[in-house]
Amino acid sequence: MKGTGGDNLKLISKIVIASALISYLMSKGTVKFTLEKYNVDNIYNNKNLKISEERADELFQLLEEESGNYNLDNERDLILTAAIENPNLSNVEKKVIYNLVDLIEEVPYIDKRVAYANLKELDILYDYENYNGTHLGDYVYNTNEIKIYYDTPNHDVLIHELIHSLFLNIYTNKLPYYFKEGVTELLQDEYFSDNPYFEESSYPYEIAMVKILCDMVGFDVVLKTYTTGDMSEIEKELNKYMVPEETKKYLENIEMMFDQFEEKDITDFDYMSNFLDYTKAFFEKKYLKSNKIYESYEYNKELIIKMVYGNSGNNYVEYLEENGYYVKPYFSKKLKEKDKEYHFEHFEDNEIDKALKKYKLI
Ligand SMILES: [Zn+2]
Repeated sequence: MKGTGGDNLKLISKIVIASALISYLMSKGTVKFTLEKYNVDNIYNNKNLKISEERADELFQLLEEESGNYNLDNERDLILTAAIENPNLSNVEKKVIYNLVDLIEEVPYIDKRVAYANLKELDILYDYENYNGTHLGDYVYNTNEIKIYYDTPNHDVLIHELIHSLFLNIYTNKLPYYFKEGVTELLQDEYFSDNPYFEESSYPYEIAMVKILCDMVGFDVVLKTYTTGDMSEIEKELNKYMVPEETKKYLENIEMMFDQFEEKDITDFDYMSNFLDYTKAFFEKKYLKSNKIYESYEYNKELIIKMVYGNSGNNYVEYLEENGYYVKPYFSKKLKEKDKEYHFEHFEDNEIDKALKKYKLI
């Protein structure tokens, strides 16, 4: 059900950190998340993937026939070749990798040789015994291994880790944690999810931060930073409107704010107020108040404020229940062509429950 963005925006902008809101949040009980059960053989289940299993089969066959005649300047060939030449991967895993083609074709800054080298020797291990109830998967950069801990894996986790494996190198490995995870998960949502605007996975707050950065400096600069590992790209853009020392402090502050959040599921209000002040000042300098970009900024900023209170999974669900979901594509060209209008998506309570069945604890 679609609603009118304007009314909701007014509502959101009126949300202030008032004691009434805090006590309301605290009075709500803990939302229990039920993890959707997948069959172990179901890692590629053809249900949610953008590319059909038949299409994957076709590509697979094509590659076998073309054996030895690949053009490594062509991103599609590069990815398919790396997958097909990798003896560690099963055919099922190779088919999942074919889904990365759209993504790799659209990111112009990707180091193709690194992506090729990583994929060609990548190993995927299913380490169910080390599943601790929250941590679903890892890409281990040093050994070029993906580890899946969740005992009933699904392709979302595998795709997320595959995106890490494509982009991680000695430079990008040093990027702030929130930034790496936020961009990775937003890419996963936009390129591979059936419901690309609905973050049903692990990093809603990190994604909100990445979206704010995209609105500040442009999605292209964010993608370039994610691919090169050079945060000064973002810094340079921010400094067009702000004082360099303040920008430096701002970026460090966000990193500390999220580090504390990852550790304690809560963050100090000092970090938060610095984040709010600078961000507001930047938007006011760069954009007119009438600019539509304020809608997504307001929405994501108010979500990030929820990090102060703890119980982040619960707060996220409540935020969606109260405000709906602000819909706007950031990275995917196909989504941008399809969804020109920005709007709020409203969910009935049971729809949120349904969508969050797969919510993985942070
Ligand atoms: Zn990750």
